[in-house]
Amino acid sequence: MAKRKKKKNTFRAILRMLCLLICIVLLTLMAPMVISLLASINDESVSIPEIEVPVENEDWALLLVNYDHPLPSDYSFEILTLSNNEEVDERIYPALQSMFDDARNEGINLFVRSGYRDREEQEIVFQNKLNECLNEGMSEEEAYQETLRWVAEPGKSEHETGLAVDINSEVSAEDTYNWLIRNSYKYGFVQRYADEKSDITKVYNEPWHYRYVGKNAAYEMVEKNFCLEEYLENKS
Ligand SMILES: [Zn+2]
Repeated sequence: MAKRKKKKNTFRAILRMLCLLICIVLLTLMAPMVISLLASINDESVSIPEIEVPVENEDWALLLVNYDHPLPSDYSFEILTLSNNEEVDERIYPALQSMFDDARNEGINLFVRSGYRDREEQEIVFQNKLNECLNEGMSEEEAYQETLRWVAEPGKSEHETGLAVDINSEVSAEDTYNWLIRNSYKYGFVQRYADEKSDITKVYNEPWHYRYVGKNAAYEMVEKNFCLEEYLENKS
């Protein structure tokens, strides 16, 4: 009986030794891995790769067209015709549609009253306003200057870029413009001619005229209260 116990004890001792050996071997093998892992945590030169988020380049949406920046003569883009026959640059359509969908869900049925205009159409709009001013009794020079405050000269209108839209809705103008001011930047649109910026833009307040500038620019312009001219001037 005593002999059996002794055998059992010897077996346990061998088992303990084996376990110990296995532990030592495992620790020896894993040590370099643990050391390099710790080193990589402390080493600032080891960077964790970031997940690449595709950022769409929307520089095309920052085109500046105003009283002293005429539209480049070789400017061209793909035109998309909306259901009411107004036209826009097809690149702004997804954002425009998304904005209109969300407004509709809040009971505001927005629509584009005036989108892209070619040079001839802009000339007609300009001439009509000029005639209106002349009919009010202004001199030719007065009429011309007053027209410029409301309608861009042909070749200098944002409507010729396809990136600008005059927006209306079936509800009151006040509700429409309030909704647009509060929400349009989320879709990459900004009110282009705010009253407080007319010294810079040289255009009177136009609460209906929205311009696509891309989401990033729109957020920044709203955040910093910049019009497009100011945004471009301060852009690094
Ligand atoms: Zn307009």
